[in-house]
Amino acid sequence: MTLDTAAASKGTVDLPAHCEVLVVGAGPAGSACAQVLAQAGVQTLLVDAANFPRDKTCGDGLISDAHAAFERLGVHAQVMAQAHVIEFVRCVGPTGRHVDIAGTLAVLPRLKLDHILVRSAQRAGAQLVTPWRLQALLKDAAGRVSGGRFKRAGEVRDVQARHTVLATGASAQALAVSQMGDESAPSAFALRGYIQHTGMVDKIPHLEVVWHPRLKDGYGWIFPCGNGVFNVGVGYGTKSLRNGQIKNKKNLHAMLEDFAAVHSGAGELIKNGILEQPFKGAPLRASLRGSRWTAPGLLVTGEAAGSTYALTGEGIGKAMETGMHAAEALIMAHRQGAADDALHAFYTQSLEQLKPKYAFYEKANMANSYPWLVELVIRKATKSASLRQRLSQHLQEEVSTRPLTLGRVLRHLWA
Ligand SMILES: Cc1cc2nc3c(=O)[nH]c(=O)nc-3n(C[C@H](O)[C@H](O)[C@H](O)COP(=O)(O)OP(=O)(O)OC[C@H]3O[C@@H](n4cnc5c(N)ncnc54)[C@H](O)[C@@H]3O)c2cc1C
Repeated sequence: MTLDTAAASKGTVDLPAHCEVLVVGAGPAGSACAQVLAQAGVQTLLVDAANFPRDKTCGDGLISDAHAAFERLGVHAQVMAQAHVIEFVRCVGPTGRHVDIAGTLAVLPRLKLDHILVRSAQRAGAQLVTPWRLQALLKDAAGRVSGGRFKRAGEVRDVQARHTVLATGASAQALAVSQMGDESAPSAFALRGYIQHTGMVDKIPHLEVVWHPRLKDGYGWIFPCGNGVFNVGVGYGTKSLRNGQIKNKKNLHAMLEDFAAVHSGAGELIKNGILEQPFKGAPLRASLRGSRWTAPGLLVTGEAAGSTYALTGEGIGKAMETGMHAAEALIMAHRQGAADDALHAFYTQSLEQLKPKYAFYEKANMANSYPWLVELVIRKATKSASLRQRLSQHLQEEVSTRPLTLGRVLRHLWA
């Protein structure tokens, strides 16, 4: 039987009692981590609560960091054969004025994308076992994590592992049972649905992101998936930018109605399109915050480690990138027989190096709370090719040494 059969991609149901590295969660972070480990000859077990292919509530937008990760994993051609290629992001301000930012962009529903990634990890030699949900981490007498306890229906099984990787995304349950979460509240909540409307294909061929006072603290988006289907959603940040305190929860369905009221494209899609899948909400964890990254015997990666960008909520690329960093740290430990301390230092350093990129999105996140600021930036950017180019360079992650801080954007505006 080849790994390309449906049975293989769903995973087997029997959990082995032992493995070298146990990766919990087979989203982009876990699959990328498992693939890199397996390619290096490390015996890797990948366990997920869901059977694949499975849906994941997401905007499905792929920015340049995701493309770079696909290249590294050798799946870029496979992803792009199914993805809808996009040329630019249209940022729309409260008056309807807009600016287009060019980038390496695409849209592919997670049902398909995550299946490609998990199959690629399997082809590399990782063993996928589903559907088992992590219930607790196992610890040895010294308190070091030594595997996980999993549940499926009424059945409970333990898996002993030399190293464990937690790649369970924004799930509060997994962070709670692993006791790795510092903050129970996520950074943001968002709602997404798929709408079919062939009449809108020529009108919105790009990624459209909309800021408006009625969507304050967040924004609305319309991402075309191809074949007349659009991923439409709204989201908002949960924390005050001033003091980091948790703000009141917003009603995402009311926010979606506001999106339809203030934006004609969203209004047309929501009122006259065919809802292919009901709107569904999900949390996001951003800015590399909200959980500890390491504990003895354990690495936390992907959105479980807060790997999603603030402001835009993009996280697929950075989930894969952090997952691969976790794998590299484990391979180093495996080859050199390194102790946990060295492994943790190696992994922590690789995440720390990503921080300047997160800092830019964190600063720019203010835009969600002050939509008129976005209008100002859009006005300036429509007249300034150099500002458009800088914004595009940020989207492409080509500016790493001197981030475009909010202060710099404002200085540029009033120069
Ligand atoms: C509405 C919305 C829109 C978004 N839009 C975009 C976008 O357009 N572009 C973008 O780049 N990012 C977007 N994101 C963010 C993106 O979805 C995440 O950054 C990304 O999915 C993180 O990948 P991950 O592998 O860390 O986690 P996930 O993709 O969440 O994968 C985690 C896996 O762990 C499994 N799991 C969870 N708990 C357990 C458990 N206890 N036991 C076993 N398995 C478990 C889950 O079944 C899942 O398969 C969006 C998020 C939301 C909510």
